[in-house]
Amino acid sequence: MSEERSLNFLEEIIEKDIAEGKNGGLVHTRFPPEPNGYLHIGHASSICLNFGLAKKYNGKCNLRFDDTNPVTEETEYVESIKYDIEWLLGYKWDNEFFASDYFEQLYQFAVTLIEKGLAYVDDSSAEEIAATKGSTTEPGRNSPCRDRSVAENLQLFAAMRDGKYKDGEKTLRAKIDMAHPNLLLRDPLMYRIKHAHHHRTGDKWCIYPMYDFAHGQSDSIEHITHSICTLEFIHHRPLYDWFIEKLGIFPSKQYEFARRNLSYTVMSKRKLLQLVNENHVNGWDDPRMPTISGMRRRGYTAKAIREFCDTIGVAKRENMVDLGLLEFCVREDLNKTANRVMAVLDPVKLVITNYPDGQEDIFETINNPEDESAGTRSLPFSKELWIEREDFMEEPAKKFFRLAPGQMVRLKSAYIVKCEGFKKDEAGNVTEVHCSYLPESKSGNDTSGLTVKGTIHWVSVAHAKTAEVRLYDRLFKVEDPSSEEGDFKSYINPDSMKVLPQVYIEPALAVAKEGEHYQFMRKGYFCADKDSTSEKLVFNRAVTLKDTWAKEAKKG
Ligand code: ATP
Ligand code: MG
Repeated sequence: MSEERSLNFLEEIIEKDIAEGKNGGLVHTRFPPEPNGYLHIGHASSICLNFGLAKKYNGKCNLRFDDTNPVTEETEYVESIKYDIEWLLGYKWDNEFFASDYFEQLYQFAVTLIEKGLAYVDDSSAEEIAATKGSTTEPGRNSPCRDRSVAENLQLFAAMRDGKYKDGEKTLRAKIDMAHPNLLLRDPLMYRIKHAHHHRTGDKWCIYPMYDFAHGQSDSIEHITHSICTLEFIHHRPLYDWFIEKLGIFPSKQYEFARRNLSYTVMSKRKLLQLVNENHVNGWDDPRMPTISGMRRRGYTAKAIREFCDTIGVAKRENMVDLGLLEFCVREDLNKTANRVMAVLDPVKLVITNYPDGQEDIFETINNPEDESAGTRSLPFSKELWIEREDFMEEPAKKFFRLAPGQMVRLKSAYIVKCEGFKKDEAGNVTEVHCSYLPESKSGNDTSGLTVKGTIHWVSVAHAKTAEVRLYDRLFKVEDPSSEEGDFKSYINPDSMKVLPQVYIEPALAVAKEGEHYQFMRKGYFCADKDSTSEKLVFNRAVTLKDTWAKEAKKG
């Protein structure tokens, strides 16, 4: 579909720029994460967009860590971000930068602005600065320090760098206009004092540039032609343009697109961090999290996520994307690639009364009807099988075409069986279903002439292995927890994870490795989890199946 869709507004801008020979026809984008959390599906949108545009227009895309805030950033996040981006894209980026690499350059930019009389050191406290900012209806008031001489400002700024002052004692501000209609241009802060250790520069600096003074200039330093960010920065653009103009540096242009939101989850890193820290989930990579690492662990594929991002495209207005669309993309991809296997999640025993004790059949069955190259596997069959409890009804409902006294079904890839009876315990629970089988109905060589309406999956009791299965539901009970009244955490779905500690799987599945995907027939797509041990495999359900079984039934 990507080939056919019309150009999005960013592509239109880029094609126009190329046609006009702007920037020598070069396209250079960047993805600028702040390493203060793990990447989520919203970031995936931005990654696919920025790297995608570079690829489409033979340009370049930098990975740049916007690591100007020493307090919230950690190396763990840097590592996870790199891992997730490479996984998502399927390739490694060419250029990797850190805004902290530009600290010296940014300091020099600040000095240049001071020298031009366009920046000053202010002694006002944060409260004083806020109080004199004015409002949309009222102009702000000039700081008493606003008219300091260039020489004094240079000396004070150097002293700030040299650690002569405590946190908050002084700031460096741009000298723009305290009555500017855009409040962000009312002498914005450029530097603040923070005696804090930085994950890369250590204790070299005790002044740090504000995001607004670092971000745009970092783009310029890297000669980013199209600096794409989310809408909340639209009002910052005039400020970035002001710095560029006054400094006479590379004119990166900013373009805004709407943040992507996904239903039934939250996307802000601050909120995700709360979920992690307060143990509402088991870490950033919990399969219920909207993080890239959580989705990977759950069994979502990189290709499916890319397809999702491509499908939703870019928009100029904030909107909510349906989680169902992401699940659809996951299903589409896994349908083509995941081998089919049989696993019984809620078992009851089926005994084939006319099948000889100790005998077994080994069926060769195909792994994936969508992919011949996936080959075949051996499937052992014996007198006693596990089947799903829900595949038997003592008193069948209308249109129940599975097992009930007197009814026939096909056991997938094996025989047709007919239900002859069942056993119950004292509590009235069915403990065994009894069937006879038709030897002439053997799959692939069926001479019975019978057609049955139902096909069910099964696992031979004698050959079965056990595993743990984790089933997931939406993390939140409401579509948009962030817009609801009160604490977003009060909308957490208490049933978002269901653990089945012991299910039965066919023996071929016992070799599953972490990250491998399977379709458990009729039960969904599953992925082997990192909690798997040599004693016990653990599978996460990525997504349920649409009912593809009707099709399967015809094939026998
Ligand atoms: P959060 O609100 O989750 O903390 P952020 O914008 O602070 O997000 P950054 O690390 O600064 O996180 O984001 C890196 C890039 O990803 C930015 O260019 C940002 O615009 C983009 N981005 C972040 N969230 C989304 C989203 N939900 N949809 C699209 N792009 C996003
Ligand atoms: Mg940000």
